[in-house]
Formats: sequence, structure tokens, C-alpha cells
Amino acid sequence: MQPEILVPSRISSLSLPEGALFPTFEYRPNMWRPLPSLVSQTMPVELIHKILVEAWSTMQGSGEWEKRSDLFRKVSLISRKWANVMTDVALHTIVIGTERDFEFYQRIILREFGVDPESKDHERVHLSAHEYFKSSNLYITLTEWTTMGTEFSFKCDYARIPHYIPSALYIEVSVNELPTNDVISHPFLPLFLCLSQYTNVSDLRLRWTYTHINRYTIPPQCSVRGVTYLRLVEFPRCNCQNFRHLVPGSHRLDCFSYRLPTLFPDLRHLHLETPYILKNLKILPGLTLLTLEAPPVHYLPSLGYFSSLMSWNVVSAVKSGLMRRTDGDALRKKIVVNGGLKKPLGWRKALAACQARGVELELRHVYKSPDVVPTLSATKSKV
Ligand SMILES: [Zn+2]
Repeated sequence: MQPEILVPSRISSLSLPEGALFPTFEYRPNMWRPLPSLVSQTMPVELIHKILVEAWSTMQGSGEWEKRSDLFRKVSLISRKWANVMTDVALHTIVIGTERDFEFYQRIILREFGVDPESKDHERVHLSAHEYFKSSNLYITLTEWTTMGTEFSFKCDYARIPHYIPSALYIEVSVNELPTNDVISHPFLPLFLCLSQYTNVSDLRLRWTYTHINRYTIPPQCSVRGVTYLRLVEFPRCNCQNFRHLVPGSHRLDCFSYRLPTLFPDLRHLHLETPYILKNLKILPGLTLLTLEAPPVHYLPSLGYFSSLMSWNVVSAVKSGLMRRTDGDALRKKIVVNGGLKKPLGWRKALAACQARGVELELRHVYKSPDVVPTLSATKSKV
């Protein structure tokens, strides 16, 4: 007869099967089996940590808050040791999408650190939390919004996140699809009110999860100090060319796409992961390094797989002053292209334009495999 409780007799591997939350249990009837409580007591903290980091990392989508909450609750019931490690893992990889995530973190953080007795008007975590969170990664997803006429709001109050998580090592923001209603002008204001409170964070990634033409305006009077490295994915396209009153090539004073880099006055390195017309970006003089990701995702029978610079229009941007030195004695500014094994399409002209204007252009062959499978959208783009 099978026993009702199966005890893990061994952990087959440190890496868990896909989708698994716990090590697989294996029943051996003739084997001595300690009580479950003894197993949890004797397992090394390092192993518990590795298991929980692995499990936590498999559920970082904004729609998976229930799984995260469930894992946290169940693991915390095993023993005090497991509960402590679980808390540490959750506070070092912070995932906030929904308001439920934020409420969950508020409870844990106030339990661990308490309230700052000096915070009279707004609740804030105790100052002792600042040092702890300096090694934490913060993942925010903008999602779950509501609209009423011209009023737009997210269910989660992102601007209050720094009240509870006052510092971080790295921040990544994913943006789920937002409304395309023209009367909604600045939905990103809460995000930038949040980011502007993290003056100790130098590494930031903004990741739009969909390709679109921008309809929003730059958040007024926002400045995010401290960010020196900014990585952008699916950056929204500027649509200023549709406004007939504008001089060709100019942008509205509140154009979000054009002016976004100006919100980061300390920016030194801008990294664009998906193609963008570079002359439609306002770059401040402090930027010294621009990295462009150009994987070999295009395909022609005559060429095989290849990468392309055509969608960036490097030549036009450099001619307009992109990455040009402002001081004749200063070091040359650099554009790095992360490409495949071959030179990308448009390389020769881009190199000539850069050399003529004192801009360093470097190709790094980071995509080693010639067999990258092209995506449908990539093969439809300009080749
Ligand atoms: Zn524009």
C-alpha cells in the first residue's frame, strides 16, 4: 500500500523541470525516509536558495501574481528557514505588475523593516531598508489601466513604489499595450514619478511589449537623475511627420519619442535593442556611447541570413550631428553595432559617414550562429 506522504529521497538536479515549483518526488518503499520536517531542517540554505531562485524566476509575468503569492505562502509554511530564504528571494527579485503584487510587497516589507517614524504625510519604509534594497532587481510592468473620458489611471499606484522599495541595483519596466485614444496624453507620468525617486540607480531598461506609433506626450517637469545606461526595446515611433504645421524634420515640443533621452540628464550609454530612426531621437551632449542590436534576422536566397542597418538610418543621423564631438580635444564618441558574422547591409555607407564626421563606428560579431530563424515581422522589413 502506498503511503499518503511521499518524501523526497533525493533531489535529482539543481535545475528544476520546466514549470515545476519543487523538486520531483521519488518513492522508494525500502528506503529509510526521514520525516518531512527533518528534510527541510537539514537541507543546506544554499540549496534552498538555489531552488527558490529558480522557481521564482519562472513566474515573472504580470499575470502570474497568483502563482507568486501561492509559492510564497506555501514555502513559508515549511519552516522558518525556508520562509526566511523565500522572503530574501522575493525581496531581491521584486516583481510588481498588478496592484495585488504591490499590496503583497507592502505587507512583507513593512513586516521586515517597519515604518519610518518620520513619515508623517505618506507611509514610508524604515530607513534601514535603503541599504538592503541596493542589491535588488526591480521589475515593473505597466498594466491594468482604466479610462473615463480624458481620465486615465493605472490600478497600481506606481509612483508610491519607492516609498516601500527606496533603492535598487537595476530597474526594468515592461509596458503592456496601452490605449490609443488621442485624448489621453501622458499615461507614463506615474512611471516617471516613480523612476525620478531612484537617484541611486544607474542601469535602466524600458521595454515596450508591442510595436506602435506614439500618441503620448513627454511627462512634464520630470527628470530621472543617476541613470547612465538606458536600454530601450520596441521604442514607440514618433508621428510628428503627420503634423503639417511642423517644419519637416522638426518635432513637437512635447514629442515623447524624440525627447525621451532628455529625461535622463546623466545618460552616457544608450542601447537600442530594436531598430529606430536615429535622427528622431534627441541626444544630449553627455552621451558618449550608442549601441545598436542588429541580429542577422533578415533573409534572401542570394545572401542567406544577414543583419541590416537600413532601419536605423545611421547616415542621415550622423550627418545631422548624432554623436558628434562638442569639443575638438575630446575623445571620439562611439557607435557599436552588435551584428552577425557578416557586415550588415548599409555598413559601408554608415562607416564612411562616421569617419567623415569624427564618429567611431565599431562592428562586433556577437551573433555567431548563421542559422538564426527569421521572424515574420523581420522578413517583412526593409531589406
Ligand atoms: Zn516627434
